[in-house]
Amino acid sequence: VERNGEQTEFLEAAGEVLSSLEPVVAANPRLEEEGVIERLVEPERVIMFRVPWVDDAGKVQVNRGYRVQFNSAIGPYKGGLRLHPSVNLSIIKFLGFEQIFKNSLTTLPIGGGKGGSDFDPKGKSDREVMRFCQSFMTELQRHIGPDTDVPAGDIGVGAREIGYLYGQYKRLRNEFTGVLTGKGLAYGGSLVRTEATGYGLCYYTQEMLSVMKNDSFKGKTVVISGSGNVAIYAAQKATELGAKVVTMSDSNGYVYDPEGIQVDVVKQIKEVERGRIKEYTKRVPSAEYHEGCSGVWTVACDIALPCATQNELSEESAKTLIANGVTAVAEGANMPSVPEAVEAFQKAGVLFGPAKAANAGGVATSALEMSQNSERLHWTFEETDEKLHGIMIQIFHASYDAAKKYGMDGNLVAGANIAGFEKVAEAMLAQGIAY
Ligand code: NDP
Repeated sequence: VERNGEQTEFLEAAGEVLSSLEPVVAANPRLEEEGVIERLVEPERVIMFRVPWVDDAGKVQVNRGYRVQFNSAIGPYKGGLRLHPSVNLSIIKFLGFEQIFKNSLTTLPIGGGKGGSDFDPKGKSDREVMRFCQSFMTELQRHIGPDTDVPAGDIGVGAREIGYLYGQYKRLRNEFTGVLTGKGLAYGGSLVRTEATGYGLCYYTQEMLSVMKNDSFKGKTVVISGSGNVAIYAAQKATELGAKVVTMSDSNGYVYDPEGIQVDVVKQIKEVERGRIKEYTKRVPSAEYHEGCSGVWTVACDIALPCATQNELSEESAKTLIANGVTAVAEGANMPSVPEAVEAFQKAGVLFGPAKAANAGGVATSALEMSQNSERLHWTFEETDEKLHGIMIQIFHASYDAAKKYGMDGNLVAGANIAGFEKVAEAMLAQGIAY
C-alpha cells in the first residue's frame, strides 16, 4: 500500500482480488514461501513516455503515454490501449492487474498488460488522431512485438486508431505481424472481434441465468449503460436472445426507449456519425432523453449490464436497482460497480457476474486473432463465434466451480479471481523467482 499510496483504482482492484485469494493462500503454503502475491502485485515493467504531436493549428501538444507489462507467466502481455483524459498510472495499473486474471480465465496463453494515454480523441480531427497515434507508436514499438506484448483497443481506441497505430508499427519495423489485435479485416483482423465483448457478455450471462436460476434472457427487460463498442453489441445479442433492451447512455445522459432500443439506429449514430446518444430521440419518437448518466440505473429492469466505465454504478444505484426488482447484473465495462454496490447485489441474492469473467470475450477473441495471424489464415464468423461462445461458458463454469471448491457457493467474484489466479500461480511457481 505504501508504495502505491496515490493509486486509488489500483489499490481498490488489488484489494478486492487479494481478499478473495486468502483461502487459496492459506491452503497452499508454497505461495507464501515463494512470494507469489508480493510478486503478483508489482508489474514486471512500467513504461511511461512523452507523446508530442502537432495539432491542426500547428501548435505542439504533449501527452503522456503508458504501457504496463504486468505479468508474462502464461504468455505474452496482452491488454488494450485506452485514450481518455482521465487516464493515469493508477487506472492503467488497475486495468493491467485485472487483465492478468481475465486472460488466464480465457484458457488461452496470454499474460496481462494495459496501456494508453491522457490524449482525448473527442473533438479531434482524423488527422490529429493519426498524428497522435503515429507519435505514440514511435515510442511504443520498441517495447512490443507479436511474441512480447500485443496491445488492443479499449475506450477511445477503435478500428480507426488501431489502423493508424498498426501502419506506423509496420513502417518502423518493416514487419507484417500480429502485433496489435482489433485490426481491420483487410489487414489481419478477425471476424467477431468487433462484437466479441458484448456478445461474450451475453453468452456468459445466459449461462449464469441458466445454471443458477434455470432462466434466460427471453422476455426480460434489460438496462444497458454506455453506447460504445461493448454496449452496442451487448444490446444486439441480448435482443437476439429475446430480451428487450430499454436504455443506452453516454457520459452526458441516457435514452429510454420502452419499445426496445433499435440497435441499428445506435450503430449509425455512434459508429458512422460519431455522434451522441441524445440524437437517438430525434430518429425514434418512442424514446426519451434524460440528462445525467447515472439516472440510467433508476429504470426498472430484470437484468442490468453496465458497459460504460469504471465506478459508474454506485451503492445508491445498486440499491435502486434492487428495489426495482433486478435479478442479475453482469459487468461489460471494467470495474463499473463500486465495491459497496457489489456487496449490496450479493447480499440481496442478485446474480453478479464480475468484469474479469463476464467481459473476457473481447480479449479471448483477440487471442483467436493472434492464432489466425500466426497461421496466416482467416476463420469464418460462425467458427469464431462458436469458439467465443464455448470460452464464455467455460469461464462461467471455472468460476462457479472454484467458488464451490473454497466454500463460497455462487460467489462468482471470488470464483473468477481464484480460477484466474490458480493457473498464473502455477506458472510462476514453475518458473522460479525469475520475475
Ligand atoms: P468505447 O469508447 O467504445 O465506449 C465507452 C462508452 O462509455 C461511451 O458510451 C462513453 O461515453 C462511456 N463513458 C466513457 N467514460 C465515461 C465516464 N467517465 N462516464 C460515463 N460514461 C463514460 O469503449 P468500449 O465500449 O470499448 O469500453 C467500455 C468499457 O468496457 C471500458 O470499461 C472498457 O475497459 C471495457 N472493455 C472493453 C473491451 C472491448 O473489447 N472494447 C473489452 C473488455 C472490457 P462518452 O462518449 O460520453 O465518453
